[in-house]
Amino acid sequence: MRFRLSTVFELSQTDVLPDVEPAPLQPPRQPVEGDSHAHLLVPLEAFADEIGYPVERVQDLGGPEAHCRHGERAIRLVKSFAPNHQLAALIHELAHALQGPRPRGEYARNEVIVESTAFIVTRAVGLDSSPSSVSYISDWGGKDAMANVRAAVTEIDALAGQLQAVLEQVDQDDEQPAGRRAPDACGAALQAA
Ligand SMILES: [Zn+2]
Repeated sequence: MRFRLSTVFELSQTDVLPDVEPAPLQPPRQPVEGDSHAHLLVPLEAFADEIGYPVERVQDLGGPEAHCRHGERAIRLVKSFAPNHQLAALIHELAHALQGPRPRGEYARNEVIVESTAFIVTRAVGLDSSPSSVSYISDWGGKDAMANVRAAVTEIDALAGQLQAVLEQVDQDDEQPAGRRAPDACGAALQAA
């Protein structure tokens, strides 16, 4: 789950919701602007379908900008965010989906893993989400953020590798004229969603 800047929850909320992630005490998320990478939403949404977590766009999630629900097998994105922001959020939620349900008590550690994954994957496609990701990771990881990242590097690498493979396939398809997507194909997909 990724959160909007304006959202603040009580810490006590984090212990009572079995299938959701807790909200950060200091919502750190900064928007990722623009639509330069909007076309990458298409293959990632197809991948989400493949792994059984279809993407739904909604007006509002009551605070979060996106979430992954293992129980419902669903990923939801708030549609008002810029396409590049949706991409960063979708990669984050896909990492949650690939992880599957995790034991309670691992929320903060998991957010560090998942957002580190999103940071690596967005960076690999040339989208800089660092103002958003770095503060998010440090808020969730606290003073041990970097140690937590290092301790989970194998898992982060595996998750990022799976998502990068999806996007590298797009690059290969794009080298063939028949596989090239029209520039407005994603815009149409976004509007249809
Ligand atoms: Zn999350």
